[in-house]
Amino acid sequence: MSKWMKGCSQLNIYCIGRNYEKHASELGNEVPDQPLLFSKPSHSLVEARGQEIVLPKGLGDIHYELEIVLKINKAVEKGSKVTEVVSEMALGLDLTLRDVQSELKKKGHPWLRAKGFKNSAIITEFWPFDEKECANTEFSFDLNGETRQKGHTRDMIFTFQDIIDECADCFGLGEGDLIYTGTPEGVGPIHVNDIGKLFWGVEEKGSFLIK
Ligand code: ZN
Repeated sequence: MSKWMKGCSQLNIYCIGRNYEKHASELGNEVPDQPLLFSKPSHSLVEARGQEIVLPKGLGDIHYELEIVLKINKAVEKGSKVTEVVSEMALGLDLTLRDVQSELKKKGHPWLRAKGFKNSAIITEFWPFDEKECANTEFSFDLNGETRQKGHTRDMIFTFQDIIDECADCFGLGEGDLIYTGTPEGVGPIHVNDIGKLFWGVEEKGSFLIK
C-alpha cells in the first residue's frame, strides 16, 4: 500500500450468493456455474454479543441468511491452500433488504443498497478454522427459540477453496478480509424485538436482539 493510503481501512467483506442449491431454488434462482460474488462495506459489520442491533425501518422485509464466515490471515497467492490462508472462522448473518433487492434486480442495479446497509453483516466470535471439524459439524440459526436454518458444508456448490481462488483472482485477498460463504435454505424475515442465536453444533457462538 502506498503512503498516500496511510490510515485508510483495508478490511474487505466478500459474500457468495446462491452457494447452496436449495436456497437458490427457494428464491426462484438458477444454480450458478461460477461463484456469484458481491461485497459489503466495512461499516456493515456488527458483532453478535447479546446486544441490540438496529436495522433500517420502512424499507420492506429484511431477511436473515446464516453463513459460515472465513477470516483470511495472510495475502493469498495463486495456489494458496485454504488451510494456509484461513486461520479462523465464525458464523454470520448476511442480512438482506429483500424487497429492495427485488426492485434493484428488476432495474439491473447493483445490490449494494439491499446488502450493504449498516449492521447488515452480523458476526459471531471467531474460533480456529479446522476443515475436518467443518465436515463434521452442522450450523444453525435460531429465532425466538425456534430453529429456522440448518446448514452443512457438504451442501455447498463451490468449496471454500473455489471461493478463495475466485476472490483472490478477481479482487485480491489479504490479511483481515472476511468471506461470507453463502446461505443454506430457510431464509426468512426478521423483525423488531426478535432474538437471534447462532450455533456451531450445539455451541452458541453469538446472539442479538433486533431493534
Ligand atoms: Zn448471503
